Amino acid sequence: MLLMKDILDEKNPILREISQEVPLPLSQEDEHLLMEMYAFLENSQNEEISKKYDLRPAVGIAAVQLGILKRMCAILIIDYDEDGHILSKTGYALANPRIVSYTPKPSYLKDGEGCLSVNRNVDGYVPRHAKVTIKGYDALTKQDVTIVARGFLSIACQHELDHFDGILFYDHINKKDPFTYIEGALVIE
Ligand SMILES: [Zn+2]
Repeated sequence: MLLMKDILDEKNPILREISQEVPLPLSQEDEHLLMEMYAFLENSQNEEISKKYDLRPAVGIAAVQLGILKRMCAILIIDYDEDGHILSKTGYALANPRIVSYTPKPSYLKDGEGCLSVNRNVDGYVPRHAKVTIKGYDALTKQDVTIVARGFLSIACQHELDHFDGILFYDHINKKDPFTYIEGALVIE
């Protein structure tokens, strides 16, 4: 299983490199990697397992964070009700996902973003598109998918796809005024 020691730190220059598309159908090696990445997210969000292995809870991971320059990422967003029951579970293990359209309306997380590769808090609003449409191959369902992502999912997808191009979330933060007003933005709590 993947552990925190497998994840590159932001100081590693590989994180700034451009990842390449992978051939489809997926090789066994690539499919295995995607499944490992998805399993990492599940483990990281499992209270017992994350404690045992000291995993930071995460909703997304890109292959480049493991030092593998391939355009592959996993995303897992689980919503719970007040009693801790699962309301919805949105998960993907994507190869070659790309944004095919987006709304100009901006959006950002009120509390800012975090990243498995960034072991510190970086304050500030990270402007994203409020809605993006993504096409790619999903190894979980073994089919091509079109994802219309809104809200938190939209932000998580854009964060992961940025990794393919060597971009980290704080690159988007206004350096002079990290909490500057973003006109017309959808604020996500
Ligand atoms: Zn990240």
